[in-house]
Amino acid sequence: MPLLSNAEWFERARGAIPGGVNSPVRAYRAVGGTPPVIARGEGCRVRDIEGRDYIDYVCSWGALLHGHAHGPVVAAVREAAGRGTSFGAPHPGELELAEEVRARIPSIEQLRLVSSGTEAAMSAIRLSRAATDRPRIAVFEGCYHGHSDSCLAAAGSGLATLGLPLSPGVLPEVASRTTVLPYNDANRAREFLRAEGPSVAAVLVEPVAGNMGVVPPDPGFLETLREETRRAGSLLILDEVITGFRVARGGAQERFGIGPDLTLLGKILGGGLPAGGFGGPHRLLSLLAPEGPVYQAGTLSGNPLAVAAGLTTLREATSQAYAALERSATALESGLRAAAASASVPCTIQRCASLLTLFFTDRPVRNFQDAKGCSTGRFRAFFHAMLRKGILLPPSPYEAWFLSTAHREEAIRETISAAREAFQEAAAQPL
Ligand SMILES: *Cc1c(COP(=O)(O)O)cnc(C)c1O
Repeated sequence: MPLLSNAEWFERARGAIPGGVNSPVRAYRAVGGTPPVIARGEGCRVRDIEGRDYIDYVCSWGALLHGHAHGPVVAAVREAAGRGTSFGAPHPGELELAEEVRARIPSIEQLRLVSSGTEAAMSAIRLSRAATDRPRIAVFEGCYHGHSDSCLAAAGSGLATLGLPLSPGVLPEVASRTTVLPYNDANRAREFLRAEGPSVAAVLVEPVAGNMGVVPPDPGFLETLREETRRAGSLLILDEVITGFRVARGGAQERFGIGPDLTLLGKILGGGLPAGGFGGPHRLLSLLAPEGPVYQAGTLSGNPLAVAAGLTTLREATSQAYAALERSATALESGLRAAAASASVPCTIQRCASLLTLFFTDRPVRNFQDAKGCSTGRFRAFFHAMLRKGILLPPSPYEAWFLSTAHREEAIRETISAAREAFQEAAAQPL
């Protein structure tokens, strides 16, 4: 292809690809402008087709715990590819990955691999309905569990950004089986489960919300969900697609001490290749075909390349790696706070481990309503100022920034110094 600018490429892509993208948030509708078209990445940096470099805080939406083209991951994928890219048959790597996951997350006795987080959620919901013989599920506003029909009653980040509360094409009778509750409202969840529990198969929750920006659970919120689902005979499904292997070695369930019935995994699990998974006790997972009657399958499930990337990523996620991530994230958080203060821009920075969101508001953000109350004008100005200075942030105010172990001191310093000027531009916008 001849050398194109980002804008030329994108214009042409819009002819052949819907909206020019294969996932809507990439189109920059929330911030305006044309997305940089990424030609390559290395460590914490990416380069666009115009040759411009950026420090990347998208990191494939959290999948890249060790940054781009991490040496050991690339080597493992190369080696696996040389042995054959897909067999549609059992292979040694998938057992190694299942055992590695089990060792980190004790609530997972058995793990079924799929190819995305969407598939993990969809399959776990089917399993929960079969296990309980109940039709309904509950989710929380601002959480995202992929784009299967049952989950599109819960407005995800992509949808929230586009301002579509419910997608056309999702049948009302399907969406009506999904109840959407406010995040961090333990009382509402309790009331709901006490009243409607007998028809509720499962409650799904992001243990640290990452799809309305980072919103940690209030003390007692997850504990109430655990207690009330148990009492109601409903399953508690922790969606750890973002938090798994990120907020702790064993995910949010380790960090907060919550034992779910089922866990959803994705993103880091595939180390930048397509993989998802869902797991729990043998008692539940044995209901899946071929042991049990619940159908679930996938041509590329357990794909050898994805398994090699995921396994290598997890093996490199040592306690030293988590400690280094925590140091970088702490430095970024405190640097951003100081920069905002010196520009007199009110903002709320919420962080859990290496997940962070900067909200343009002077109040804490505890749920989706709070998140929607933030200044989008200021976010846009800040976002584009950062982009011009070579810092690539997630292009929506409702997203987490993801750090990787490749984000070291120098990159953090560069980011903070860019933020000092970007806050000045944001300050010129009304709150
Ligand atoms: C990304 C995400 C999903 C969906 O995963 P895909 O691989 O994009 O289908 C599900 N749940 C959460 C919490 C996510 O962040």
